[in-house]
Amino acid sequence: MGILTKYIVIYKMNENKNVLINTLNSAIDVIDNNTRMKIENMMKGEKEITCENEPELYQQLKLRGYIYEKENEETEIKNRVITMDTIVKDKLKHKGFTICPTMGCNLRCTYCFESEDLHKDFSIMTEQQVEAICEYILEQKVEQEKKNPNFDKINPMQIKLFGGEPLLKCTKNVVEKILKFSALNNIRVAIITNGTTIPDYIELLEKYKKIIAIQITVDGPEKIHNQRRIKANGMGTFSEICENIELILKLGITIQFRINVDKENIYYLNELEEVIRKRGWGDNPFFIPYASPVLDFCGNMSSALKEHELYEILLEKGYYGKSDSFIKRVVSPCIGYVENFFGNNTKIKPWKTSYCEATSGGELCFAPDGLISTCLTYIGKGELSVGKFDETGVYIDEDKFELWSGRNVDRIPKCRECKFAFLCGGGCPVMALEKNGEIDCCVCSDIEKTIEKYIKHRLK
Ligand code: SF4
Ligand code: SF4
Ligand code: SF4
Repeated sequence: MGILTKYIVIYKMNENKNVLINTLNSAIDVIDNNTRMKIENMMKGEKEITCENEPELYQQLKLRGYIYEKENEETEIKNRVITMDTIVKDKLKHKGFTICPTMGCNLRCTYCFESEDLHKDFSIMTEQQVEAICEYILEQKVEQEKKNPNFDKINPMQIKLFGGEPLLKCTKNVVEKILKFSALNNIRVAIITNGTTIPDYIELLEKYKKIIAIQITVDGPEKIHNQRRIKANGMGTFSEICENIELILKLGITIQFRINVDKENIYYLNELEEVIRKRGWGDNPFFIPYASPVLDFCGNMSSALKEHELYEILLEKGYYGKSDSFIKRVVSPCIGYVENFFGNNTKIKPWKTSYCEATSGGELCFAPDGLISTCLTYIGKGELSVGKFDETGVYIDEDKFELWSGRNVDRIPKCRECKFAFLCGGGCPVMALEKNGEIDCCVCSDIEKTIEKYIKHRLK
C-alpha cells in the first residue's frame, strides 16, 4: 500500500485545472478536478488510492514521488536535502561582507528600521578595524579558493557598504581604504547609499567604477518621496537624489534603483514611472529599477503590505510582470523564491531549507561598535551578535554563529510539520525574535498566498 507524502500542495488554476506541487522533490503537475478530489480524499484519510482501484493514477503518483511504498522513504529524501544544504552552506560560508563605516545618517526616513539614536551617533570605524576586516576577507577568499577553485566564478565574493549612510564626508577615508582593497583583490562592492552625498564622492566613484554598483532608494514621485525620505531637518531629498542619479549614470556605474513599497506609495508608482520616462533613465542599461516591500518586523505597521498583496497590485497595475513594465524585479523572500521556482529558466528547482541571507551562513555584517551580526537589522545594536573585531583581528563565536546559520526547517519544530517547509525556509528569524522572543519560534512567511498569486497572474 502506498503512503501519500505530506509535502503536497494544490492550487486552483482554472475551472477544471489544478496545479499539484510536491514541495519536497519539486515536481509540478497539472491535474483535473476529479484527480484533485481523489488525492484530497486520500489526504483526509477517507479513501486510499491503490494499485488495485486506480492503477494508472497510482503509478503516476508513485513515479512523481507523491506516493511512497517504503515507510521511511520520505524521511530519507528529507535528510538528503538537509545534508546537501549543509554542504552548500559550507561552500558559501562567509561570501558576503557588509561593512558599516558609521551608523550615523543624515536622513530620517519614516520607516527606517534603525533608531534615531543610532543615526545621531557618527562614530566611525577606525582604519585599524577596517584593516582587520580586510585581512579576514582575504583569508576567507584564499580558504575558499583552496576548497573549490571555481567557486568564486559561480558565486563571487562581495562587499556591501551600508550604514547609516556610508558615503558621508567623515567616512571618506574608510570608504577609500575599502575600495582600494577591493579593487586590488578583484572583489565587487555594492554601495547602499541614500544618494544625497554623491558629489562629495564623485572622483572616488569614477576611480573605482569598474568594481562598483550603487543602490539608491526613491519611494515615489516628488511629493510622496519627500514625505518619506527626509533629512534630519525635515527637508525633502527628491530633487538632489535625482540629480545625483544623473551624475552616477554618466559615469557608467550600475544603479539598483530601489522603491520601498507600502500602502502609502503603491498607488503613486505610475507617477514615478513618468519621472523615469521623462528623465530617459528607463532606456539606460545601467539603470535597474526594482521594488521591495517595507518590512514590518513586529506586525504593527498598518501601512505595510504583505508580499502577496504587493505582488498582486504590481501585476494588476502592470508596473511589473510585462515586457514593458518599468519595475524589472521584485526583491522579497517569497516573491523572489516563487519566481525562481516556477521560472522557465530554472532547470533545477532549488530547495529553500533556510530563509534568508542571515541564515545562509554566507553573510557577516560589521558595525563600528566592533560587533558582527548576520542580519542588517541587528547591526550596530549590540544584540545577537555572532562575533567581534578590533585592530587585532576578527573573532567569530561559532556557537552564536550556528544559532543563525544552523537555523533551517528541520530545526524549527513547527516547520518540521509544514507542507510548505521546503518552499518557505522557516520565515524571518528577526520576526521570530521580535514577536516570540525565540529564533526558532517561527512567524510564518507569506509563501502560501504568494504562490496563489503567481499561479493566478503568471503561470501560463
Ligand atoms: S537613509 Fe537609510 S539609514 Fe538613513 S534614515 Fe533612511 S533608511 Fe535609515
Ligand atoms: S533575518 Fe529577516 S530581516 Fe534579517 S535578512 Fe533575514 S529576512 Fe531580512
Ligand atoms: S515558517 Fe510557517 S510556513 Fe514557513 S515553513 Fe515554518 S511553519 Fe511553514
